[in-house]
Amino acid sequence: MKTKFIKGTNKKYSIREDGVVFSNYYFNNNGDKVKRKYPLKSRKDKDRIVVQINYGKEKGSKCTKALVKKYFGFFHCKKCNKKTKDNDNNIQYFFCSKCTKEKRRLNSAKFKRNNPEKIKLSRNKYRKDLKDGYISTVLRCTTQDLTPEIIDAKKNHLKLHRELKKQKIK
Ligand SMILES: [Zn+2]
Repeated sequence: MKTKFIKGTNKKYSIREDGVVFSNYYFNNNGDKVKRKYPLKSRKDKDRIVVQINYGKEKGSKCTKALVKKYFGFFHCKKCNKKTKDNDNNIQYFFCSKCTKEKRRLNSAKFKRNNPEKIKLSRNKYRKDLKDGYISTVLRCTTQDLTPEIIDAKKNHLKLHRELKKQKIK
């Protein structure tokens, strides 16, 4: 397994790709540098595994998962534990793309459930604005399929129907 030095710690600490952090040396009572490699004890802090780093820029309690992500460019998904590369802007913190999608879907369903008024308002505005996106939804095609002529014709068509409905003609 690969190990990398943690930057700014004067090579005192290193991180292994499985998330184990090592101390590589210490100073004894005479102030002599003693080389001895040993793994730091980790502990749970809420839902994170952290280690205590006592030296340099990274001083403080550090999440081992975040260190692996920083030094090796991957992490294991919080939910399904799948190994995931950290190069997708579309994923949420420590979630793989599949679990991100699922989380977004659930969040949006929850939002809709908790905010029926807002949803109604935005739906009404969407209908009223007659933007290209709405026209393509009504016509069941993509916006790329639409030409200015189609958009105009459908807009007028919709406006006519709405007006007829308002005047109770139809
Ligand atoms: Zn996942």
